[in-house]
Amino acid sequence: MKNFRKSTIIIALLAALIISSGCEGEISPVIGSEASLSQSEISSESSSSEPESAVLPESSEPEVSEPETEEPEPVPEPVVHLSSNEVQKGRYITLCAENIDLYGCYFTDFLGYERTFRGKNGDWYCFIPIKPSADAGEYTLEFTFGDFTFSEKITVTERKTPTQYLEVSPKTLEETLEDAAVREAFDVFYQKYRWVNTGVALWNGEFVLPLGDRYYKETTKYGTFRTFSNGNTEWHNATDMAVAGGTPIYATNSGRILFAGWLGLTGNTVLIDHGYGIISWHYHMNKIDVSDGDLVEKGQKIGEVGTTGLSTGNHLHFGISVGGIFVDPMAMIGTTPEFDFWLNPENEEQTETEEIPEITVIEPEASKETEEDYEVVKIG
Ligand SMILES: [Zn+2]
Repeated sequence: MKNFRKSTIIIALLAALIISSGCEGEISPVIGSEASLSQSEISSESSSSEPESAVLPESSEPEVSEPETEEPEPVPEPVVHLSSNEVQKGRYITLCAENIDLYGCYFTDFLGYERTFRGKNGDWYCFIPIKPSADAGEYTLEFTFGDFTFSEKITVTERKTPTQYLEVSPKTLEETLEDAAVREAFDVFYQKYRWVNTGVALWNGEFVLPLGDRYYKETTKYGTFRTFSNGNTEWHNATDMAVAGGTPIYATNSGRILFAGWLGLTGNTVLIDHGYGIISWHYHMNKIDVSDGDLVEKGQKIGEVGTTGLSTGNHLHFGISVGGIFVDPMAMIGTTPEFDFWLNPENEEQTETEEIPEITVIEPEASKETEEDYEVVKIG
């Protein structure tokens, strides 16, 4: 009777183990290891209890206590780190969740955009960008996933909004803003690429200026509210860098060419996907040196400055979007996307990962030819 009871308890425990590990989604490795452990327990227990019934009082104790001491491996509480509770328009904040699997977690941020998390080394990240046209003030950033709820107050602060009037020749206007087909083609293109969110970090350390150390004139700042001579208006969500035609344009960071081609509105256009929803946008180019799908290294030449599309002179229109929203590209220069911002610098693991991007940045001859090479690049 007792033996029967024991084995029922063990079978029940086994079943519980299998069911609970199945929920985690890590099916084969987890079940395999736990099941084999439990089977060895069964055989050792049954062999020790069978020969002598006198040993029963002793062996019945460890049986009950053993699974209990093994099972309550302390489950760490889910934690969500926030890079800041205050963010200026044109910037972004980062969410990082630890000790919780947020695969499939979608939520709507306080500006009405759908967001999701991307995993890295067991943690989950999400960028919340703030568009320049957002209202400053207090917001609540929240999401729920299963039993877990996150809620934090966020303050969005003002930034200056320059205004600009731009005289454009009637011919250029006709071929660009006033051509419905050209505008529609741009809308299709924009909607297709702005939400791309590759779950791999392709960047390599800090973002750098796309014109290297060339002198340029900033003719239109990010976040300028612009009126064209035909009355059309727009938020200029990039920086216009005026410089001689033919000036080389370099990749602001490593990534994959998402689009390289011609559009009526923006002329020769190149988009670089840096991963995790970060994309750099280059318009009005004279010449393109890359093709769709190419992997580019930070600092690699991608083309030359020109004045194609809706443009009144040679310049590079340089934009960076994060999670579908254009942020201030100049604020990104010299920075690395905010990962690991909360970690204690004394943490050994963290020190290790921090050193890697510095090495890969400094060595220009380190050529990365395959996609796999990029996928192991660490984020600084
Ligand atoms: Zn521009």
